[in-house]
Amino acid sequence: MRFDGRVAFVTGGSRGIGKGIAQLFAETGAKIGIVDVNEEALKETQKEFSEKGFEVLTKKADVSNAQEVEAAVKEVVDTFGRVDILVNNAGIIRDNLLFKMTDSDWEAVMNVHLKGSFNASRAVQQYMVDQKYGRIINISSTSALGNRGQVNYSAAKAGLQGFTKTLAIELGKFGITANSVAPGFIETEMTKATAERMGISFDELTSETLKSIPVGRWGQPEDIANAVLFFADEKSSFVSGQVIYVAGGPTV
Ligand code: NAP
Repeated sequence: MRFDGRVAFVTGGSRGIGKGIAQLFAETGAKIGIVDVNEEALKETQKEFSEKGFEVLTKKADVSNAQEVEAAVKEVVDTFGRVDILVNNAGIIRDNLLFKMTDSDWEAVMNVHLKGSFNASRAVQQYMVDQKYGRIINISSTSALGNRGQVNYSAAKAGLQGFTKTLAIELGKFGITANSVAPGFIETEMTKATAERMGISFDELTSETLKSIPVGRWGQPEDIANAVLFFADEKSSFVSGQVIYVAGGPTV
């Protein structure tokens, strides 16, 4: 299969987009390491994936804590022998208009998205450099282009695009590529929480946003997984430092 012999490490992979990515890797032959802070979802995913016959190691770890991430990466390498692919997917939202945004809303979002991606990338690079092979994929967002109420999140997601390009420049000579997938509206708990916070039903949010999606539907986690697997493919070795928007149409 396409990812036979490969080991993928997915942050925030116990549910939503991360789970969809982990599942597609496993279905195409990869062994999977998943870290997440959501213990309940981690347990359910471990059980579900094991029952499907996937080789999976789940670990509770907060990506904003460097030691926890390093220990989890080491455990994956000790268990599966290597780490070939990192997907920096773990994410949170703390939306508010600028004048109402608190320091902790700002810091929490920066810590998970930016520091978390930095921690995990730094943790895997030593193994990838030794292997002379690696694929790093960072999950950005269409919000990187600006989105009302998301000054923290849009800054973090735009920051991830610069982070991606710099990783590509620094790590290319070691056979490591770095790319970014920027999703539009994807149906997950995160978007359901957005509707709740806006005080509208999920159906109302869906019908409102559908007006601006040319393909006429919301995205599903597997739509993002499909783009991630393109970047993660061994054959994509000449594609690096790129951002692909997966949003059912052009973004700007
Ligand atoms: P989700 O359903 O909320 O899943 C995110 C997962 O990451 C959750 O299990 C969450 O745990 C976990 N997580 C949060 N903070 C963490 C931390 N510090 N360390 C480790 N794990 C952590 O979200 P999603 O919609 O699948 O989003 C996945 C990624 O795609 C995020 O980076 C998001 O910003 C991005 N994205 C999503 C959309 C969309 O429309 N859904 C669009 C563009 C980009 P908890 O359950 O405890 O929070």
